[in-house]
Amino acid sequence: MSNNVDLPYQTVCLPAISIAKEEATKLGTVIGIDLGTTHSRVGVSKNGHVEIVANGNRITPSWVAFTDTERLIGEAAKNQAAVNPERIIFDVKRLIGRKFEDKEVQKDMKLVPYKIVNKDGKPYIQVKIRDGETKIFSPKEISAMILGKMKETAEAFLGKIIKDAVVTVPAYFNYEQRQATNDAGVIAGLNVARIINEPTAAAIAYNLDKKGGEKNILVFDLGGGTFDVSILTIDNGVFEVLATNGDTHLGGEDFDHRIMEYFINLIKKKHGEDISKDNIALGKLRRECERAKRALSSQHQVRVEIESFFDGIDFSEPLTRSRFEELNNDLFRKTMGPVKKALEDADLEKNQIDEIVLVGGSTRIPKVQQLLKDYFDRKEPNRGVNPDEAVAYGAAIQGSLLSGEGGGITTDFLFWAAPLTIGIENVGGVMTKLIVRNEYHVSPTKTSQVFTTYQDQQTTVSIQVFEGERSLTKDCRLLGKFDLTGIPPALRGTPQIEVTFEVDAYGTLNVKAEDGSTGKSEKITITYESDRYSQEEVEKMVREAEEFAEEDKNVKERIDARDSLETYIYRMKNQINDKDKLESAEKLKIETATKEALESLDDKQNAEKEDYEEKLKEVEAACNPIIIAVYQRSGGAPGESSPEDDDFHNVL
Ligand code: AMP
Repeated sequence: MSNNVDLPYQTVCLPAISIAKEEATKLGTVIGIDLGTTHSRVGVSKNGHVEIVANGNRITPSWVAFTDTERLIGEAAKNQAAVNPERIIFDVKRLIGRKFEDKEVQKDMKLVPYKIVNKDGKPYIQVKIRDGETKIFSPKEISAMILGKMKETAEAFLGKIIKDAVVTVPAYFNYEQRQATNDAGVIAGLNVARIINEPTAAAIAYNLDKKGGEKNILVFDLGGGTFDVSILTIDNGVFEVLATNGDTHLGGEDFDHRIMEYFINLIKKKHGEDISKDNIALGKLRRECERAKRALSSQHQVRVEIESFFDGIDFSEPLTRSRFEELNNDLFRKTMGPVKKALEDADLEKNQIDEIVLVGGSTRIPKVQQLLKDYFDRKEPNRGVNPDEAVAYGAAIQGSLLSGEGGGITTDFLFWAAPLTIGIENVGGVMTKLIVRNEYHVSPTKTSQVFTTYQDQQTTVSIQVFEGERSLTKDCRLLGKFDLTGIPPALRGTPQIEVTFEVDAYGTLNVKAEDGSTGKSEKITITYESDRYSQEEVEKMVREAEEFAEEDKNVKERIDARDSLETYIYRMKNQINDKDKLESAEKLKIETATKEALESLDDKQNAEKEDYEEKLKEVEAACNPIIIAVYQRSGGAPGESSPEDDDFHNVL
């Protein structure tokens, strides 16, 4: 069973070629699935050409329905909407990987006609599957049914069994949501070879990863029920998500609603009938309004016609594009707010956006395009790939690369980013950051830093791995710890302990500490449990870190200043032991200066940064000339360093 989402990390692009080759031997044809809130699509790549697989319709509503005799998925399920409202399930993407108590779940519960219950703290869907039999399903089981349908659709098209898929998720999805999406794939009998971000997939569909140079890309994704804005940068094939924003309840269905309201009022006026409680009539009206809306993207007027609509009355009314735009004017304009906010968060001006990518069926609406173009001073968005297919298209390209069937397509990296900074505890409880939050890395990735000991004759160092945004580890979360023992006794600052963080292609973090002199090493593997932070908690921690940034900076600076002073004093004391090189007057001067400084340190455990700096200057003024003189006398023998070139930090 694959488990490629054991990250809180966001895997956003492709594996390094070496991984691709390794995996290619294990993978068959890898399809790309855009598992959308309202609709899903599947793409396959054949000889470097991507095909969005038709399934009667090219899109499959992400809907599941139960009747007394069968389970229906996709279009057939949606057709039940009017007759079977409590037994149809849709929008489960809003629930997947979430906790029952999440405010989004609590809000969404009120908006859907099916019943959501609390099971083990998670939202489950309770539905009557046949007469007298009620069952509860997890959102991942429902998603699995939709993924299964996409798998079948691809299989029918390709004429073979498909086992592997790339599945896309919104850029803001957290670890649990990604993991649950992966699980849904497994339930559907699919090996989810990669979970990738939707905006990245869309950018790949436009080959933006292959256009040279660094670029800022804005992905404007207005679908059926959700609106997402993502700003990515791409540099040398490496994607980084700079900002995400949006509205979880804004999309094509809201536009349909406005048209429906308009007609409901018109019918009231013309026929004195209120159809707003008539589910069957509403179902028919919804379908025709959506059809009219689509038509209005390419023509200026349509006629909405429904035979025997209610009371045997045939309905036929015109709808112009201008009327449609007027009915939705405020909603269309609302989309510009998140665009603005995303730009602010990314710290970019609008003229710094190099590429605009439209995703989602609702971006076909001319007025939406016009507002966006006006906002970006008439800049044209990328065209050529259908906006509602761009994500599946990009996912299929990814799939083809993973399977090695990609023909001439050569994008070749796997990227990930940690949602929270990861580091280890340095002396004084300071968090030394090794992997910075939201920075994207090619995977598998390695980063290392050399640390040294804090005390003379120290034979053990403790490596404590934390995640969090604060500068002191006491405000971060401990992920794991281990000791490296058996370090040969030496003066403080002498041992070289290399701490390496390595994240493998599947997101598992290995932390290793190795003593440079003996090669002895210890390591720890940190895997991610599903009770890790939710998106909300991550956001809260980041907010707190911002609030406390100034305070933390001061504390850290104070600790660093104290550390620099202390390190310097000990180093000078060690120099005294080097009797051959020091004259006795020099030795005495250093002894006096360091003794006095150490006493003042002991007296003032919590002095201000400036006090420590002041003191450091004093001891340096006394000792540095002597050390430099010794240094010059000895001709700067190799292996010796001047007091300035030492890294006095990174002590464990
Ligand atoms: P998506 O979530 O990307 O599948 O987007 C689906 C939404 O796009 C639905 O609300 C559709 O009604 C809407 N849509 C699809 N095609 C068009 C079109 N040509 N004009 C306006 N809206 C459309």
